[in-house]
Amino acid sequence: MQRQEKMKILAKQFGDMKKNPDMKAFFPDKTNPFIWHVSFKGPQDSPFEGGIYHCEINLNAYPDGHVRLQLLHENGSYQVNVSLCIVGITSGGWTPGTTIQSVISSLSVLMSVPTGRHGTGFIVETNKEEILRLVPISQSYVCAKCGADHSTVFK
Ligand SMILES: [Zn+2]
Repeated sequence: MQRQEKMKILAKQFGDMKKNPDMKAFFPDKTNPFIWHVSFKGPQDSPFEGGIYHCEINLNAYPDGHVRLQLLHENGSYQVNVSLCIVGITSGGWTPGTTIQSVISSLSVLMSVPTGRHGTGFIVETNKEEILRLVPISQSYVCAKCGADHSTVFK
């Protein structure tokens, strides 16, 4: 796909995500539109509820191919700075119509699955006490790369 066409799709996705109250995108490198950072709310009715999590998405292959994702701070569910194997995240399989929002939503939902986890980057056995300890820490996280500040991001 041509760069220009990709840019148009990404601009649309960015605009759509702006309307979503549960996630917000940032650009850590203003010269690179294919790397996004996204802050998203922890899944409701789970130990992560109230937490805010920050991940990096590599969109170089998007939308034809899988995005690459990594969590940027301790969260109790995913390893930090490790590219996640997202085959398990986008359960319906990858299509060029898969939106970035749906990838983040799946990441959020999958976060609270405590058992049967597999794939690179997953913490196999989550520890509820550790997750709960990290929730308030996540609420004041500041990303050194993009400037996202979790104390104000959803206010
Ligand atoms: Zn960031």
